[in-house]
Amino acid sequence: MTAPTTTRIPAFRGDVITPDRNGYDDARAVWNGNVDRRPRLIARCNGTADVAAAVRFARDCDLEVAVRGGGHNVAGTAVCDDGIVIDLSAMRAVTVDPLERTARVQGGALWGDVDHETQAYGLATTGGIVSHTGVGGLSLGGGIGWLMRKHGLTVDNLVEAEVITAEGDIIRASANDHPDLFWALRGGGGNFGVVSLFRFTLHPVGPTITAGPVFWAAEDTTDVLRFYREFVTDAPDELGNVIRLGTIPPLPGVSDELHFRPAIAVASCYAGPVEDGERAIRALREFGRPLVDLVGPTLYVDHQGGIDDTVPHGWHYYWKATNLTYLPDEVIDIIAEHAYDAISPRSYAAIFHMGGAVARAPRYATAYSSRDVEYNMSIDAVWLPQQDDTVGTTETTWARKFLAALQPHGAGVYVNFLDCDDDLSRVREAYGDDAYWRLAEVKAKYDPENVFHNNKNIQPRSPAQ
Ligand SMILES: Cc1cc2nc3c(=O)[nH]c(=O)nc-3n(C[C@H](O)[C@H](O)[C@H](O)COP(=O)(O)OP(=O)(O)OC[C@H]3O[C@@H](n4cnc5c(N)ncnc54)[C@H](O)[C@@H]3O)c2cc1C
Repeated sequence: MTAPTTTRIPAFRGDVITPDRNGYDDARAVWNGNVDRRPRLIARCNGTADVAAAVRFARDCDLEVAVRGGGHNVAGTAVCDDGIVIDLSAMRAVTVDPLERTARVQGGALWGDVDHETQAYGLATTGGIVSHTGVGGLSLGGGIGWLMRKHGLTVDNLVEAEVITAEGDIIRASANDHPDLFWALRGGGGNFGVVSLFRFTLHPVGPTITAGPVFWAAEDTTDVLRFYREFVTDAPDELGNVIRLGTIPPLPGVSDELHFRPAIAVASCYAGPVEDGERAIRALREFGRPLVDLVGPTLYVDHQGGIDDTVPHGWHYYWKATNLTYLPDEVIDIIAEHAYDAISPRSYAAIFHMGGAVARAPRYATAYSSRDVEYNMSIDAVWLPQQDDTVGTTETTWARKFLAALQPHGAGVYVNFLDCDDDLSRVREAYGDDAYWRLAEVKAKYDPENVFHNNKNIQPRSPAQ
């Protein structure tokens, strides 16, 4: 890499933030406070033209490149040391076409931006369950959320993307334009270029829905999980569920004496009429002796931001993840044995219920191909920045041991839940061999030099290889 003699980016109208500038430390910080990288410059883009200018500058100066969407990836791949960050955080516009039922979303938008604009029309698309997560990284990795069983993954709702290639060219990818790239973008992550604009299909949702979590004592975990796996067997597509194992967070409606008590929760979201939702969730709420039940009519947009404060920016995080085809007794036993071994009351594990529209799409319709698993699990170690390193060590050890115990039952992994270092060898596992090699060929066509490698990287491989 040759050091650029200037930080003036030709044809760039955004902000260039260098280490000597006020605000540099804020600009290089990402969601995971455990990530501490020092880029040579941060090119905060105002629009597509700036992104293209920044990519060309990086290429001409042979700079290490990182692309920042919402800055939320646990691995911190949105920033790099000693290179350029192509920062989309100022590109958050969302424009809804209520007649066409689509939204145009800039590449640096957060899910809260999308929900805010789309819900003004009573519309939504599948997005993440924490509103400060970025649209960019989440969409390019697949996109799981409350609405997926009814409306498919985020990638199933992607109609078109505007992409800046490694050469700095601006192209469109859709079913008709660059269909190979369009396939790869829907699950292959940030490997193929910078997406400055997404266009998504929208669906009528809410604005009021039935949603919320029910908590039971940790001692009830085995019983709750055995009940739950039967409960979801006939669940309607409208019903999205996430199991959370850890402690009860201090959410509104939770009394003080329950804060941080070890507990299992099932959080639900019914994407249909409020009364149908009440009926669909009733059996779950009536099971056993819940400690607290927060299910009720709520605005979809509020539900989407409901757990934001349990995972704020700046805390330290370390994740492990696996897909599970089913919840047999032996897996339930492993979960019950390990889930509450974390020392930090903020650490937790989450299990998303898949199926529905996700499973009905053909396996290789998109690069995201883990459509046949019923559960997607992440084990999330969380500790505070002021806590000493031993806490981090204890929590990461907990997450690793938990995953190791589950691994004989694992069935692939969601690429967006992979952490750095010890997880990078698992990228191929996220896709399976067929999808991985197809992705490698698309990579060879659109980014043969692997300019975009600060991500869950797919190495370019031409068909001849
Ligand atoms: C608290 C929390 C909750 C989450 N919940 C969910 C969930 O409900 N569902 C789910 O599916 N995932 C979820 N995730 C995982 C999430 O999908 C990933 O962390 C994702 O990478 C976040 O996207 P981002 O744009 O914020 O990431 P960033 O850190 O900004 O980017 C990650 C990578 O994505 C690429 N990238 C980002 N934007 C672009 C772009 N516009 N063009 C090209 N490449 C880009 C880059 O390669 C970058 O290195 C969650 C993560 C967190 C931390």
